Amino acid sequence: MPYLDELNDAQRAPVLHKDGPLMVIAGAGSGKTRVLTYRIAHLMEQGVDSFNILALTFTNKAAREMKSRIAGIVGDAEAKNLWMGTFHSVFARLLRHDGKHLGFPSNFTIYDTQDSQRLISAIIKEMGLDKDVYKYKQIQNRISSYKNSLITVKAYFQNPELMEADAMAKRPRLGEIYNNYVERCFKAGAMDFDDLLLRTNELLTRFPEVLHKYQNRFKYILVDEYQDTNHSQYLIVKALSDRFQNICVVGDDAQSIYSFRGANISNILNFQRDYDNVAVYRLEQNYRSTKTIVEAANSVIANNKNQLDKVVWTDNDDGELIKLHRAATDAEEGRYVAGSIFELRMQEQLPNGDFAVLYRTNSQSRAIEDALRKRDIPYRIYGGLSFYQRKEIKDILAYLRLIVNPNDEEALMRVINFPARGIGQTTVEKIRVAANEFNMTAFQVMEQVEHVAVKLQSNTKRKLQDFITMIKSFQILAQQQDAFTVAEQVAKKTGLLLEFKKDGTPEGIARMENLEELLNGIKDFVEGQLELADAEGNLSEFLEDVALATDLDQDTGDDDRVALMTIHLAKGLEFPVVYIVGMEEDLFPSAMSMNTRSELEEERRLFYVALTRAEKKAFLTYTLNRYRWGKLIDAEPSRFLEEIDEKFIENLTPLQDSYRYKSLIDRSIFGEVDKSKLRSTKPVPGTPPPSHAPTEKQLRKLRKIKPEIAQPNAGSNASELPLMEGTWVKHSRFGQGQVLKLEGVGQDRKAEIRFERGEVKKLLLRFARLELM
Ligand code: ATP
Ligand code: MG
Repeated sequence: MPYLDELNDAQRAPVLHKDGPLMVIAGAGSGKTRVLTYRIAHLMEQGVDSFNILALTFTNKAAREMKSRIAGIVGDAEAKNLWMGTFHSVFARLLRHDGKHLGFPSNFTIYDTQDSQRLISAIIKEMGLDKDVYKYKQIQNRISSYKNSLITVKAYFQNPELMEADAMAKRPRLGEIYNNYVERCFKAGAMDFDDLLLRTNELLTRFPEVLHKYQNRFKYILVDEYQDTNHSQYLIVKALSDRFQNICVVGDDAQSIYSFRGANISNILNFQRDYDNVAVYRLEQNYRSTKTIVEAANSVIANNKNQLDKVVWTDNDDGELIKLHRAATDAEEGRYVAGSIFELRMQEQLPNGDFAVLYRTNSQSRAIEDALRKRDIPYRIYGGLSFYQRKEIKDILAYLRLIVNPNDEEALMRVINFPARGIGQTTVEKIRVAANEFNMTAFQVMEQVEHVAVKLQSNTKRKLQDFITMIKSFQILAQQQDAFTVAEQVAKKTGLLLEFKKDGTPEGIARMENLEELLNGIKDFVEGQLELADAEGNLSEFLEDVALATDLDQDTGDDDRVALMTIHLAKGLEFPVVYIVGMEEDLFPSAMSMNTRSELEEERRLFYVALTRAEKKAFLTYTLNRYRWGKLIDAEPSRFLEEIDEKFIENLTPLQDSYRYKSLIDRSIFGEVDKSKLRSTKPVPGTPPPSHAPTEKQLRKLRKIKPEIAQPNAGSNASELPLMEGTWVKHSRFGQGQVLKLEGVGQDRKAEIRFERGEVKKLLLRFARLELM
C-alpha cells in the first residue's frame, strides 16, 4: 500500500491501529490532520464501508480537502459516501432526516445570528421591555451560551441560581424571552446554529431508536481539533461512539482557543477516563515550518504553565529569522505589509495565495485592506461581513427561504415590503398580533386574510394576497425546476433586480453585481449537485449549503488572493508567508482576556496558533499609535514579543533613520521615546521598505514644524524627493516601482526605476511625476 509510505513511523502507528478508542496528541504541523485522513483511507482499503464512517472537522474547507485526498487513494465513488464535515453541517443533515421526531419539518430553516437577533429584538419589543436594559445582542449571547451548555428553557426554570443571576443583572424576564424565542423558532420551523447541536442531543437522548440507528451506522468516528469541542459536541460524539467505541480523536491542547465559546479543554484531558483501553499516540516531528519558526513557537508556549508535556522539532531548514517591524500608525502598518507582499511577490515569484495576514480582531482588517487595494494586490477577507451577509444577498435568500419554508417568519418580515409594495409597518404589526393570538404563523394569517379577524382595508388585503400568490407560484416552480431557475425568476419577478438597477448609484450597481454573482454561484452549485447520485440541485439543497457556509467555504481556491483572517479562523491552515499584525498590549493579548491566568494562557495559545501557520517566513508588526474606538491611542508592544527567544528575531525598525520624513515625524510627533525593549539590527539589504508617506494628519502636524518639507509631493517636481537606491515610489502612469540607481545632480538628477510590470525606466526627476510610497 504505497500511501503508507507517505507517513513517518509515528504517524503510521495510529493509521494502522485496529479497533478501539485512540487519541493522537501532538503539536502544530506534526501531521494530525494527515493521520486522520490516511486512517480513513486505510479503513476503506481494509474493507470498511464508507457508509459506516463519520468524520468531523473544524471547517468545511478542511473536510473538502480531506475528501479529495481520500478520493485520490480509494477512488471518487467511494469517497463520496463519507459523512464528513463540521459538527454543524453533519448534524443539520441528521436533523433533516430525523428532526420530525422533535416536530421539525425536514425543510427547516437555519437562522443565522442576525436572524436570531432580529427575532429576539422583536420579542423584547412585543413584551414591552426596555431595550436598553434588555439588549438584544447580549440576550442572544446569553441564550446561545445556555444552549451550548444544554440548558433548555425547562432546565433554566428549574435552576434558581441561573434565574437569580439574571435577576441580579436586572434582567428578570430573560427566561421568558428565552421561552418565547424557542417557541417562535419552533413555530417558524427554524433552528439557530446552537439548535443544530442542542436538538441533536435532544433527539439522541429522547429517541433511543434514532440513537441506535446512528450508533450502528457510524462504526468509525473520527474528530479533528478535538481540543475545541464544546460540551454539546462532546456528548454527541460520546453517545454515537458508545456502541463500537471506535473513536479516533486528534488534537493539541496548546491550540485550544475557543473556551470563550464553551469549548472545553478537559474533553481532551478526560478522554482516557471516558473510554476503556485508550491508545495514546504522540507525534513530534513538524513538517510544516522552518526550524526558526518551530523553535520560536516553542519558546512562546513554554510560558504557559497549564499544558501537557510535548516535544515539537523539525528536520526542515533553519529558514529566515522572524521579522519584526514597528510602524508609526495602523495605516503605516498596513502599508508596510502591502509593500512587503508586493516586494516578495516580485523577488521570489510567489503567488498571492502564499500570503496570509492574521489579526486578533476583525476590525483590524480595514487598514490592511486599504493598503492592499492601493497596491492592487488581490485579497480575500474571511469572516467579518461575508458575501452571504450582504443586504442584497440576504434579501434574495429570504425570498428563497420563504419559498421552501413559508413559516419562516424572519424571511417573511424581511421581504414582505421589499421591494416596496405598499404593505406598511402597521399592517405587518397587525398580522404579527393576529398570528400570536390565533396561534398561526404570519404566512398563514396572510393566506387566510379574508377569513381571519384582522382589521385591514380591502386594498391592503389584496396586496397581501398578491404577495402570497407570487410566493406560491414560486413554490410550484421550485417543485419542477432547479435552484438556479427559481432564483433567476425570483430576482426578476419580485422586482429585486429592477430595484437595484434603477438605483443607479455605485452601491446599486455593486448590489446588482453581487446578485449576479450569487446567481452564478447557484448555477455552479446546481451543476455540481447534478453529478451526485442522491441530489437534484433543488432549492432546499442550495439553502442548506448556504446556511452552513462558513466564511472559509467561499474559498474555492481557483483564484489567487492574499488571505486576511482572524487567528481563530486560521486554525489548521498553513501558508508559506504569514504576517501577524497588531502585536500590541491590549490588542493581543486582548484587553478583555487578561483578567486571569487562564485567559492570558488562552491568548498565548492563540499566538502559538498564529505563528505555527507559517511555513517559510513569519512577520510580526506593531504600531506605536493606533486608532481604536475612533481615537488615536498610544500602543505598547505586546508582551508576547518579549517571550520569543530573541535569537529568532530580526528587528527591522531602524530603517526609519534613512527616511527623512519618518524620522522627522517620529521625533516631532511621537517624541524620542522608544517603547520597544527589543533589539535592533541593521536594515537588511533588499528588505522591502515600509511606506513612509506621511498621513494627512501627520502632514498637518508636520506643517507646523517645518513647512518646506511638509508637502513633498506638491506639484510634479520629484527632484526634491528623498530618494535613494531601493526607495519605493509611485508614478502616475507606470504605477509602483523601486529605484535602482540615482545619478546626476540638481536639474540633471535622474533615477532608474524598475516598475511593477518589469519595465525599467530612466526618469529625469525634474519632470517625473513621482510620489513616495
Ligand atoms: P495543526 O496542528 O496546525 O492542525 P497538523 O498536526 O494537523 O497541524 P498537518 O496539517 O496534518 O498537521 O500537517 C502539516 C503539514 O505537514 C502538511 O502540509 C502535511 O501535508 C505535511 N506533512 C505531515 N506529515 C508529513 C509526512 N510524513 N511527509 C511529508 N509531509 C508531511
Ligand atoms: Mg490539523
